[in-house]
Amino acid sequence: MQVYMASKAIVLVCDGMSDRRCSALGWLTPLQAAKPKSFDWIASRSECGLMDPISPGVPPGSDTAHLAILGYDPYKHYTGRGAFEALGAGIELEPNDVAFRCNLATISEDGTVVDRRAGRISNEDAETLSESLNGIRLVRNSDVSVLFKHTVEHRGVLVLRCEGLSRFVSDVDPHKIGVRFLHSRPLVDSPAAKKTADTLNEFVEVSRKVLLQHGVNKRRAKNGQPLANVVLPRGAGTLPMIEKLPAKFGVRAAVIAGGAVYKGVCKAAGFDVLEVKGATGTVDTDLDAKMRAAINAVKAYDLVFVHVKSTDVVSHDKNPVKKVEVISRINKAFSTVVSEVDLAETCMAITSDHTTPSEVGEHTGDPVPLALYAPGARYGNVERFDEISCASGTLGRIRGIDFMPTIMNYLGRVPMYGE
Ligand code: ZN
Ligand code: ZN
Repeated sequence: MQVYMASKAIVLVCDGMSDRRCSALGWLTPLQAAKPKSFDWIASRSECGLMDPISPGVPPGSDTAHLAILGYDPYKHYTGRGAFEALGAGIELEPNDVAFRCNLATISEDGTVVDRRAGRISNEDAETLSESLNGIRLVRNSDVSVLFKHTVEHRGVLVLRCEGLSRFVSDVDPHKIGVRFLHSRPLVDSPAAKKTADTLNEFVEVSRKVLLQHGVNKRRAKNGQPLANVVLPRGAGTLPMIEKLPAKFGVRAAVIAGGAVYKGVCKAAGFDVLEVKGATGTVDTDLDAKMRAAINAVKAYDLVFVHVKSTDVVSHDKNPVKKVEVISRINKAFSTVVSEVDLAETCMAITSDHTTPSEVGEHTGDPVPLALYAPGARYGNVERFDEISCASGTLGRIRGIDFMPTIMNYLGRVPMYGE
């Protein structure tokens, strides 16, 4: 008698892949329309079900959804997005640090936000400007160190480093154009929140002067390009104090992702971040390179988490037809993983971190489909990987925080409760 027991797992999370029926697709969901063969093949041998990333009806952010599917209750452990962005950008955060996501943006003379992306500024210009902001000295808050790092296009991260700061401060970014950029305010009545808001406002003032005088902006002015003349921070966050996943389950874990926030959440949970050339977190990402990296990584790691962002990008663009194409592309790249990985010892999960209906263009609180392949798993009659087929699978309906223990159980990594 041969007993198969999985010792490894590959998890594929396609961001916002889950959808609703779309009128543009003859009332099919993009997954139904795409008929992704390798996803279907896995689903037909998987425990399938639906998953509520956070809770039924609650539209998740990508950050809280990822915390949940890594097994952490987001209502207990979420400490703001900024920290994940900073970790994902490769900054070693310290426990007292407060981190922000930032845009390099264009404002008019009276402070009205004209362009939140500074005319889709190039990586090169944004990088040079960001370097000039890293380490700038503040006067009113001279005890606070400033770290600034460019990530991609107009985006960057800001870290304020000092004891006695707080993440409970409001955004400087008004999140829209045509209005003045905001002054950060303390959101709780504490000296730490007051100091943080004041420091953030001082950083914005000081950085405006640095940006305005910078050669890159002088050149942009001469060429008629929009100036990157302000930094708009948002999403204050601190390092979450959570038990690392490798310690919790005794596994070696790695993540392959393009976007900083996904790398960041996984890093906070103790994953090694594997950098893959061509993994951009956009529609033009090199899927084959990511899947190849996953095949290699699973030789050295017990758990490999692969995140693909493009499904969410086209959903926010309200393009269901393009979403079908993107799903087909991911499916094709993933077929290499299915054919090359040893399925006698490897679990395989395919899911999504939330639903982003491509005719709505925003995250919604619908559950997501989940297929969990494991040697010996009690699979049923599901033949397709989509939102409707998976609903009749043997896994039923689970919560996001149950996802990781469900996989780890197949790896024999969940300690018995009781005796
Ligand atoms: Zn997401
Ligand atoms: Zn999204």
